[in-house]
Parts: sequence; C-alpha cells; structure tokens
Amino acid sequence: MSLTKHCLAASPSVTGTPSKGFDEKAYLAAKQLRAGEDPYRQHAFNQLESDKLSPDRPIRDTRHYSCPSVSYSLDLPATSVIITFHNEARSTLLRTVKSVLNRTPANLIQEIILVDDFSSDPEDCLLLTRIPKVKCLRNDRREGLIRSRVRGADVAAAAVLTFLDSHCEVNTEWLQPMLQRVKEDHTRVVSPIIDVISLDNFAYLAASADLRGGFDWSLHFKWEQIPLEQKMSRTDPTRPIRTPVIAGGIFVIDKSWFNHLGKYDAQMDIWGGENFELSFRVWMCGGSLEIVPCSRVGHVFRKRHPYNFPEGNALTYIRNTKRTAEVWMDEYKQYYYEARPSAIGKAFGSVATRIEQRKKMNCKSFRWYLENVYPELTVPEKEVLPGIIKQGVNCLESQGQDTAGDTLLGMGICRGSAKNPPAAQAWLFSDHLIQQQGKCLAAAFPSPGALVALQVCNPKEGSQKWRRKGSLIQQSVSGLCLEMQPAQLVTNKCQADTPAQQWQLLPHS
Ligand code: UDP
Ligand code: MN
Repeated sequence: MSLTKHCLAASPSVTGTPSKGFDEKAYLAAKQLRAGEDPYRQHAFNQLESDKLSPDRPIRDTRHYSCPSVSYSLDLPATSVIITFHNEARSTLLRTVKSVLNRTPANLIQEIILVDDFSSDPEDCLLLTRIPKVKCLRNDRREGLIRSRVRGADVAAAAVLTFLDSHCEVNTEWLQPMLQRVKEDHTRVVSPIIDVISLDNFAYLAASADLRGGFDWSLHFKWEQIPLEQKMSRTDPTRPIRTPVIAGGIFVIDKSWFNHLGKYDAQMDIWGGENFELSFRVWMCGGSLEIVPCSRVGHVFRKRHPYNFPEGNALTYIRNTKRTAEVWMDEYKQYYYEARPSAIGKAFGSVATRIEQRKKMNCKSFRWYLENVYPELTVPEKEVLPGIIKQGVNCLESQGQDTAGDTLLGMGICRGSAKNPPAAQAWLFSDHLIQQQGKCLAAAFPSPGALVALQVCNPKEGSQKWRRKGSLIQQSVSGLCLEMQPAQLVTNKCQADTPAQQWQLLPHS
C-alpha cells in the first residue's frame, strides 16, 4: 500500500480552503512539464510526481502518540509566515501555502508573506495573492535567501515570525507547540522535527525524533543523535530538545527578539552558513534553540541546488561561513581554517558592524558556547610529532610484556634525544590519542587507582581520549588524570600539585 493512499484513507476530513478568484488548476497547468522533459532538471526533485498531487493532499500525522493530548494556551500569538523562493515549482509552492492554511487555526495566521527572490516568472508569486492572507514581495534583483527573509521580516505585521522553505508541507497542529514555547519565553528560537518528503515520489516520511543539529569545524551541518545521557533522561517525548544549531530553513522566532539580535547578517549571499551565524548568536547572546517534537513539518531535501550562485557555490559558502567564524568563533576560528583551508585568504567583506553589535549585546564567548551548549564538539589537539613523555629525569616507556601478552608500562631514564628517542620511549600524541606503534594508552574502567594499559588504537574509543590540561594529562570521559605510581601507570583524581601527575611532552612543550 502506498503511503499516499494510506493518508487519504486516514484523514478524509482535510479539505481545501476556498480561495476566491484563484484558479488553482490554471495556475498549475501553465507550468506543467513538457512531454519528454527530464522531471528533475529544473528543481532537482521529481516535478512530475509533485504536479500529480493535490495542493490539499492529506499527509500522515507523524507525531508521537502522546502529542495529541498535549494542550496549548488559548491565547497564542498570531504569526506572519515568511516563505522566500527562487524559481520554486508551482506545485510545491502552492502546496506549502495551502498546507499552512489547511492545517493551522485561522486566528494564528496573520498573513503569509511570499518573497519572490527574482524568479524568472513574477506570476508564480503574484497569482497566489488571490488566496486570502497571501502577500507577495518581489525582489528586483537576486538577493539570496538571507536578505530576502529580512525583507519579509521587516514588513511582517505579527509579533512572531515563522520561516518556511518553499517546498514544505506542515503537519497536524504544527504551529501551536512552537508558538507555546515562544510565548512562554520570547528568547527561545524553535524548530519542528523536519520530516522528509521524498524528492523522487513525494511520499511523506517521518524523521527520527532523536536527532538534533550539529556541525564539524568546517561548519558543515549534520543531523546527529542527541547525547546518550540526554536520551536516557528523556521520560517525556513531547518535551523540547535543546539543539546546538538549527538546520535553518524552518523556525519560529519572536519578531522583536529577531530584531534585537540583529536579524541576519545582510552581507551574506544566496544560501548557506546563516544558520550557524544565527544559532551562535542566539545561544551566545542570551537565548536558546530547541526542536519541538510535537511539531512536524515536511521538507523536500535535495541533493543539489537547482539554481545558480552568481559567485559560485563554493565561494559563497566560504564567504558566509567565514563571516560567521570571524564574528563569533574567537580563537577557535583557527580550527575552522584548518578544516576548511580553502577559506584562507578569501575575501569576505567587512564584519566590523557585526562585531560591534556582538559587543553591544555583551554576548558570551565561543568558549562558553562550546563548554555549555556543544561540549560534544571536540577541539582538535595540535598534532605532536614523535616525542617523549617526561617526568623529572624519567620517560614513560613500554617495558616488554607480561605473561598475558600485555605491554608493561613504566618509567625509565630518558635515553637518546627528545627528537630521536628509542622505540620504547617514543610516543605520538595526536588527535587525543597517545600512541606507540599502533597501540594507545587506555583506561578502560577509569576510577582512582585503575590501571592504564596499551590497547589497539581506536579513535572512536572514549577510553583512549586524553587532553592536556596544563602539565596534567586528563582522560576526557572520566576527567581523571594520568599518574605514575611506583610500579604502575594509573588514573587518579587530578591534582595539579602532585609530582606523579606532572608530564612534559617533548620536544613540543
Ligand atoms: N532561496 C531564495 N533565494 C536564493 C536561494 C534560495 O529565496 O537565492 C530559497 C529557496 O527557494 C528555498 C529556501 O531559500 O525556499 C532554501 O533554499 P534551498 O531549499 O535550496 O536550501 P536547502 O533546503 O536545500 O538547504
Ligand atoms: Mn529547502
């Protein structure tokens, strides 16, 4: 049974909102694919499949079964929905608009503002203004989604802004849980769980409810599992999930908070990076970001951008993320440049006014963000070339094997030079691992006094991850420190004044 048929059967009550003077059929028919045309060419999704579906098609309610019994305040604020688009397919654009009108209590929708970012045909947008509440602003040149959203936000009449992509379908009761969170605290910026609309057959598929937004040092966005401890302590699946960053296309924000925070960086072009900039800004300047699991909105995720980037895709992404790194990432921007060396030396305009804005708002440091919001993002350790791990006149060394075949670790007088040590005293300290010939220092069951041994290196193994903390060497997961006791190497409570925990890594420190 196809998902679509199932949906039709499951929700017979959904009907189209009557729209005076708007001829849906004619609007759609005017832009149908020509026979034989590649249905993916113009939009990077299967337009033929999209065109076949009704603008009012029902979709499956993908929420957790406890969501329908959650109740919301009776005086939620109304919102202005802002949808920017550049050459969107008419069928997806219309379905986005109609899903909002069909699945939202009318009093919560002040207006739907379409910002036509200089699409080839102005009528794609203009004709839709015959639908009640729908407004259309058209850019007279290509601005990109960032400046387009700001333009929409500036004219919005409601106190709350809701941003959507132009190929979405909102699901049952999508808006109320998000408005509730923003009404309770206007500094919360909230997103729904973003369901997947198949780019091939337009089936509406439930996304996992255990994901949040994350990124790597190159400022590449990724969905990631919420950390285990948080997952274990989630007894109520309707509670919001804190997220370090939002995906960016679909979110709700209080308009005065958006303005107070400095809207968007208007010198960012076309697409990309603005979600990091907004996310860092929200967290560091006193707000929070969350995913509200009882809100579901479908989105057509694509594999490529169907539109052109006047300056090129790669350069635009670099410009936007580089502006983000320069304004918000403090000394940690070095890791951005290490992960994205092509950004070094590239022009990115002036960020002076954005930095000034950050100062004026007295925002916290990126270090604070890392420690409090995204401790799971590990800071790369500088690679140390082979060297020695010294304590006083002695060096950490491997001392043959015990009867079980495990390597014995101990201290011996340092031999050779730090740059050219004997094999038993040569260590490589890189990417949080301390290794010798493919084996790594590991504290498998860390507790005060527990033995540290050598294990086959596995960069994913938490027990093998160490970091420098002054002259201490600390295991990241347990927070315990490496200590040399008379006959064995152990982990113990960190004590900066304990000589047995003082280590020198030579030649590099
Ligand atoms: N968009 C726009 N102007 C642009 C590029 C994109 O208005 O120059 C719109 C686009 O039509 C879509 C939204 O911005 O509604 C996000 O773009 P897209 O869907 O391509 O990004 P993705 O969802 O793939 O990240
Ligand atoms: Mn999109």
